[in-house]
Amino acid sequence: MYNFDFEKPSTIADAVAALAGEDAQALGGGQTLIPTLKQRLAAPSTLVSVSGIAEMKGVCVEDDGSVAIGGATTHADVAADAASSYPALAALAGQIGDPAVRNRGTIGGSVANNDPAACYPAGVLGSGATIVTNTRQIAADDFFQGMFTTALEEGEIITSVRFPVPQAASYQKFLQPASRFALVGVYLARFADGVRVAATGASEDGVFRWSEAEEALNKEFRTDALLGLHINPMNMIGDLHGSKEYRAHLVSVMTKRAVEACS
Ligand SMILES: Cc1cc2nc3c(=O)[nH]c(=O)nc-3n(C[C@H](O)[C@H](O)[C@H](O)COP(=O)(O)OP(=O)(O)OC[C@H]3O[C@@H](n4cnc5c(N)ncnc54)[C@H](O)[C@@H]3O)c2cc1C
Repeated sequence: MYNFDFEKPSTIADAVAALAGEDAQALGGGQTLIPTLKQRLAAPSTLVSVSGIAEMKGVCVEDDGSVAIGGATTHADVAADAASSYPALAALAGQIGDPAVRNRGTIGGSVANNDPAACYPAGVLGSGATIVTNTRQIAADDFFQGMFTTALEEGEIITSVRFPVPQAASYQKFLQPASRFALVGVYLARFADGVRVAATGASEDGVFRWSEAEEALNKEFRTDALLGLHINPMNMIGDLHGSKEYRAHLVSVMTKRAVEACS
């Protein structure tokens, strides 16, 4: 770990000003960034913690029924405070890592990091959520741009994520027991105007929508609608935890389980 300055502003405006400095980086719960610094894989000159910004914390139901979650809200708080307004998302948050990770890690940090095996990217893309930053609003379909890559620009911070609430939704996670990340996770959300299916942990391109499954389920919302549909393993992740073919197969299995949970 290198030396760095530390700032803990209490407003979004002050955080944005601090992040305008050279080599400054936002710090959420530090669950990814601090180990990265310890391994000397990053060396920001200033860390700007967003954990003291009250306007970036909490779960709130908006007038249009959508659920807005502050970017600095911890996974534990989402698990508890979204349980009645968006139960499937709360259940996803409650399955992240372990209690220590859930009490520090934040939704903004997870979504900004876009780890290919993280849970929130599937929930955000599967819900068709909107990522709200200090400068703009970005649709989930435009936000995730490949492994560890997002539409965020330098110094831009996620202030909240806004979720439309589906009629039914389910996150099915096949746990990688050593890391507790998803070996494969599928988030399925059923809205009045259609079904969205997003998979994490599986693809070398990061989180993705399984459009063939969405089309089939829009015609007939039954597990049988998925018969004969297969994910091409070519772009899947293959490692010591699971081959490309295994992960491709797991996407189908988890999607079927999500359909059953929503039926
Ligand atoms: C043992 C372990 C197990 C885990 N298991 C899971 C799991 O099962 N599922 C899962 O999804 N995740 C898992 N995680 C990841 C964890 O949930 C955190 O969400 C994730 O590490 C990032 O969130 P953070 O708040 O800690 O961000 P940080 O580590 O503080 O930051 C990560 C990145 O996001 C940026 N950032 C932080 N906040 C913002 C913001 N508001 N706006 C813009 N950029 C920001 C930082 O600059 C940095 O680049 C695990 C982590 C550990 C250590």
